[in-house]
Amino acid sequence: MSTPEPELEAVAWELEAALGEEDLAKARYQLRMQMTRFVIGLLMPLVMAALWLPTGWAVALRDALHANEVWWATWLALAVFMLVSAVIDLPLAWYFGFRLEERLGTNRQSFGGWLWDEVKETALNIPLQSALFLGLYLIFRRWPNRWLPGLIVIVVVFMVAFYLLSPVFLRLRYKTEPLDEPDLEARLRALFARAGVRFGGLAVLKAAEKSSRGNAAVVPKGAGNEVVISDTLLEAADPHGVEVVIAHELGHKVHRDLPKLMVFLGAAFVGVLAVGYGVLQTLGRWDSLGGTADVATFPLLMATVAWLFGALQVLLNAYSRRIERAADAYALQMTDNPAAFESVMLLLARQNKGLPLPPRWVEFFFYNHPSIARRVLMARRWRGAKA
Ligand SMILES: [Zn+2]
Repeated sequence: MSTPEPELEAVAWELEAALGEEDLAKARYQLRMQMTRFVIGLLMPLVMAALWLPTGWAVALRDALHANEVWWATWLALAVFMLVSAVIDLPLAWYFGFRLEERLGTNRQSFGGWLWDEVKETALNIPLQSALFLGLYLIFRRWPNRWLPGLIVIVVVFMVAFYLLSPVFLRLRYKTEPLDEPDLEARLRALFARAGVRFGGLAVLKAAEKSSRGNAAVVPKGAGNEVVISDTLLEAADPHGVEVVIAHELGHKVHRDLPKLMVFLGAAFVGVLAVGYGVLQTLGRWDSLGGTADVATFPLLMATVAWLFGALQVLLNAYSRRIERAADAYALQMTDNPAAFESVMLLLARQNKGLPLPPRWVEFFFYNHPSIARRVLMARRWRGAKA
């Protein structure tokens, strides 16, 4: 298929044997489902556009609400478009968010609990996202000749708002509590001191009641950075393993990956919306649509945005794999414990149903982290280079 990499394949075989047939089958299934979800994610906006535009429903909604006349009516129309999308998407969200987790054996939530989480997230998402597009349409309407700087301002404001609200989103789904583990805390404090990052406390993410998946993060808190570890990971990993995971997260911090990623994403967003504006200019007068300033063109804009972001995902994944590799290298350097690195990789593969080595093209298109086999091979080479 591709150039053989015997060393990598040997690592993959070893990991596959360690995981066992059941987890491997689940990992393959999860990957197939992720790819299916991606394709459906491209098709859905087309279905929505077909539902709203040729039927004349988008125009009817606009006229009924007088949606181009006052800003709040524009906002309302956008919210209706998004709400209808969310409702139509709900069975898919259920299948790929709940049913899939049940089949993988990672779900620990009731259907009612899952649905309530979805409702809460949608209730927060729709006003936010529709506000972004409201800003765009108001700019398209008022400053048709200076829309680009306006678009940039809107994207920046939206990214900042999203960043500030991200802890709220996290806590909508999971509770956090301070974690009282003096030994682990001392170990992590020392790690932070070596990295030159200010330690801002230790918290546990109560994930176990909803999912068996493991995760950890280093998030800003006050002047320092708080370590948040899921109870699932805490339960399964030894302190060395936890230290490796947190060292990886610190790598992101030290390399300033989040601000870089935000700039990258923001630029992508501006580019995508600018193309969307061009599409509205060419196709936005179709039937009784009123051009770029008409909120009834929204389904067309959504479809354009979804397709361009789908294409950009490949670029974004390549960039993400690069920063993940660098964070792994940082973790190895800081902890000097490749054995712990390797066992925590295997543990995370088991908890999150990761496939050790997917086909090369799958990794290229869909993986935002290097595959586990590559990450383990990196740790072994690092050890080899030191010896
Ligand atoms: Zn990472």
